[in-house]
Amino acid sequence: MVEDKRCVLAYTSMYIEPDGKIRPCCVSSDFEEELNFNDYKTIPELYNSPQMRGLRKSMEDGTPSKVCDICYKGNNGLMPYWNERWKHKLNDPNLSDSKYNVKSLDYLDARFSNICNFKCRMCGPGLSSQWDEDHIAVEGQSGADYLANRVMIHSDPVGKFTAKDLQTIEHMNVGGGEPFITADFWKLIDSFTDEQKSEITMYVNTNGSVVKYKGESIMEKLSKFKEVVIGVSCDGFGAIGEYQRTGMNQKRFDKNFTHMLEYAFGKDNLIISMEYTITSMNLFHIQDFIFHVKDKWPALGYGIHFHWATTPYYFAPVLAPNKLKQQFISYIEGVLINPREDGVLTDFIHEGEEYQKQHEYSSPIDESLNAFLNHLNSADVEAIRNMQINKNAMPVRKFMKIIDERRGEDWKVVVPHMEAIINADLTLI
Ligand code: SF4
Repeated sequence: MVEDKRCVLAYTSMYIEPDGKIRPCCVSSDFEEELNFNDYKTIPELYNSPQMRGLRKSMEDGTPSKVCDICYKGNNGLMPYWNERWKHKLNDPNLSDSKYNVKSLDYLDARFSNICNFKCRMCGPGLSSQWDEDHIAVEGQSGADYLANRVMIHSDPVGKFTAKDLQTIEHMNVGGGEPFITADFWKLIDSFTDEQKSEITMYVNTNGSVVKYKGESIMEKLSKFKEVVIGVSCDGFGAIGEYQRTGMNQKRFDKNFTHMLEYAFGKDNLIISMEYTITSMNLFHIQDFIFHVKDKWPALGYGIHFHWATTPYYFAPVLAPNKLKQQFISYIEGVLINPREDGVLTDFIHEGEEYQKQHEYSSPIDESLNAFLNHLNSADVEAIRNMQINKNAMPVRKFMKIIDERRGEDWKVVVPHMEAIINADLTLI
C-alpha cells in the first residue's frame, strides 16, 4: 500500500500574505507559479485553483510538491498536528473530488496587512510596515525599487469573503503585522455573527503592545469566540528581548500581558500562551527565559511554546557554523533537563488505562524543545538553504552594522556569541 502523504491543510486551508500571495498554510513556500489573492474573483476559485489542486495531486501521487518541503524535509510539526486534529476530515472519502477540488474553506490562515508597530530583526518589510526605511538602508536602490513597486493585497480583502464563504470556517489563524492595530482584522472579527463566533476556534498572534482597539477591550471582543488562543510573542526579557524585537518595551509588555492573563483567568475559552521564536541571537537565553516567565507569571507557569527561525540564514540556528551549532545542540540538551525538578504532572488515558506523566517543565515546553532539537539534528540543511528568500543577501557583518547603527544598538554587547556567524561571513545561499 502506498504511504499516505496527504496533509489535511492542503485540502482545507488557505494562507494569505499581506502582499496577496496565497499558499496552503503559513509555513509552506510559495507555489512555483505564484498564486495571488487578486488572480480570481471568488474565494472558492482560489482554494480550487490549479496550484492548490496540483499540490493535492502531488500528495496523492506520493511525491508532495516542494511547496511543502518545510514539513516533509524540515520536520515542521504543523502537518502532524492538524492531521491528528482533523483526522475525520482526512478520512472522509468526499474530502476532494476526482479533479482534487474541495467543497469549502474550513481553515482561514491570514495576514491581511503588514501594519505593525515593531520591526523585529528576523522580520522584514513584507510583514512589518516599520521595516521600510531600514530595508532601503540595507538594500539600497533595489530595496527602494522593491518598496515602490510592490503590490499589496486588495484594498478590502475581507470584503471578498461572502457570507457563504465565512459560514464554513471552523478555525482561523490570524497574524500580521500586528492584527490588534489593524482595521482589516477587526472587520473580519465583526463580520461574524455572535452565533458563528460561538462555533469558531481561533489562534491569533500578537506582540502584546495593545489591549484596546478604538477604545474597546480586545479581550472582551475575543471572548465571544468558541475558543481563542492568544499567542503573545516574546523572544526574551530585558536587553535581548528588546534587541530581537525592536519596538518592544518591557514595561508596557509586562503590564499588558498581566492584564491578558487576569482577564482570561477562569474563562475556559480564552487561552494565553507565550510564543518564543528561537534564533541564533536568543538561543542561549532560553533557560533564563523559562524561569523568568514562571516566576513572574505563576498563573502561566510553564506555558511557553518555542518556534524557530529558518530564515534569514544568519538567524537560523540550523544553518549556524558547525562548532556553534554543536554548542546550540548541547545547550538545548541541557535545558531539556529541568534543574528545578518542578515540572507539571499530567493525567492521560492510553487504551482505557489511566496514567500520569511527569514533565520536565510542561507539555508545550518539552514537546517544542524536543522538536527543535530534532530539527537541529536532522533537518535537511540543503533544503533549508534553498528556502532562503533573499538569494543576494549582503554579508551578515554589514547587515548587522547598518541595522545596529540605525537602531542605536550593538550586537557585541547584547549577542556577542553572534561573532561566530558574523566572522564566518557565510555565503550559505
Ligand atoms: S504539508 Fe506542511 S507546508 Fe504543506 S500544507 Fe501541510 S502544514 Fe503546510
